[in-house]
Amino acid sequence: MIDFSSFASIRTALHDKKTTVSAIVSHYLQVIEQKNSELNVFLEVYTQEAQNRALEIDKKLSEGTAGRLAGMVISLKDVICHKGHGLQASSKILEGFESQFDATVVTRLLAEDVIIIGRVGCDEFAMGSSNENSAFGAVRNADHPDRVPGGSSGGSAVSVQAGMCLLSLGSDTGGSVRQPAAFCNIIGLKPTYGRISRYGLIAYASSFDTIGIFSKQVEDMALTLEIIAGADDVDSTASQKTVPAYSQSIDAMDKSPRKIAYLARALDDESINPEIRQMMADTIETLKAQGHSVEPVDFQLLDYTLPVYYILSTAEASTNLSRFDGIRYGYRSPDAQDLESLYKKTRTEGFGQEVKRRIMLGTFVLSADYYDAYFTKAQKVRRLIREKMLEVFKNYDFWIMPTTPDTAFKIGELKGETVNMYLADLFTVPASTAGLPAISIPQAKSSEGLAIGLQVVANEFEEEQLLAFTNYLQKLKKGK
Ligand code: GLN
Repeated sequence: MIDFSSFASIRTALHDKKTTVSAIVSHYLQVIEQKNSELNVFLEVYTQEAQNRALEIDKKLSEGTAGRLAGMVISLKDVICHKGHGLQASSKILEGFESQFDATVVTRLLAEDVIIIGRVGCDEFAMGSSNENSAFGAVRNADHPDRVPGGSSGGSAVSVQAGMCLLSLGSDTGGSVRQPAAFCNIIGLKPTYGRISRYGLIAYASSFDTIGIFSKQVEDMALTLEIIAGADDVDSTASQKTVPAYSQSIDAMDKSPRKIAYLARALDDESINPEIRQMMADTIETLKAQGHSVEPVDFQLLDYTLPVYYILSTAEASTNLSRFDGIRYGYRSPDAQDLESLYKKTRTEGFGQEVKRRIMLGTFVLSADYYDAYFTKAQKVRRLIREKMLEVFKNYDFWIMPTTPDTAFKIGELKGETVNMYLADLFTVPASTAGLPAISIPQAKSSEGLAIGLQVVANEFEEEQLLAFTNYLQKLKKGK
């Protein structure tokens, strides 16, 4: 029996001729068929295309010309361009829109013979923490279908959680990969800002946006990162730094003791779910027992991070989303009388409530009278947050904290509670604001059986150490 949750096992089975890429694709199509109507994950499944590609890749395998990802089947969040395929950011305003080109990540994955099995739902324009802000309805958490999968990359998380594909690409601006990974009991990586090209990612808040990876195995994540990361001529914010062979070093977490910081407040802040605080206490104990030095670190700026994120990300969103005017892309209101009403009606009818809220908030903080009070101030505080966080890494190798203050909530439970919904990102926005890499890994289960994620943050461009440490933590948990 092939372990469909690990690429290593799929690769071995292909190598030993125990299976074919066609059979693997059929397997996933079957799981999608069984589960998609309940979980509402895939907006489109590319059945025929995936099957055709599988045959081609099987041929390449027999000829010895297949790429490094032959046999890997993935899904794409509905914000990543895939030429000739629908792309809507789960919004009505992009109704009928088709990608005109491939995102750089897609080009790089396809060149290594990945199979993209479909496009999965998310919060509209990646704005949300529950997947409920989608024009296509909420995605459900596969382990607890009455609960949310988190957001905004909820479809990506559930496609991996439910075994509908091996791995998924999402985007993380303020937590949209890590938070759903935590809610869905899988691993989620937000890399350093600029580690992966954003070319072909629909922009939400460009100075925070990153493409991220969901998987069940650290090794699969490392290999995928190695392939998609790196400089890109068409994205000047993509770093020129060399990309290490991440997949070769995930076992390199040597036995030497590490210096680990933990967020002091994560143990005693009563607003954090007690079982999550317990997970932190247990993790700290385990690491100490292994000889690592684990020390509390105060982060007074935490309370300012969410407001800074919501000021800056909405400001950037209001600019980025101005291009959806009813003329160039997707939906156009049928009732417009003149140019101005065409803009107004298209945007009123095309955008959902949360997106409109953020466009208005962003426009407000950028307006002449308030620019300095909000936008400029928030930029200054962002700088302080980054400096403070970088300072921590002068003394520590890693910084651990919970991924979320609470576990997955029920669908509809936070409806209308905008601020409480925003609080779901309390612990994920710091790394986003500072541009640092962070991973969420499944670390415990609550008494109700709900997944609890541990977040590990590392210094800039230290994905290699981060992945190795995550792998080590997973082994510790399994008692290996
Ligand atoms: N949940 C956060 C928000 O609503 C993060 C979104 C994201 O990372 N794309 O903004």
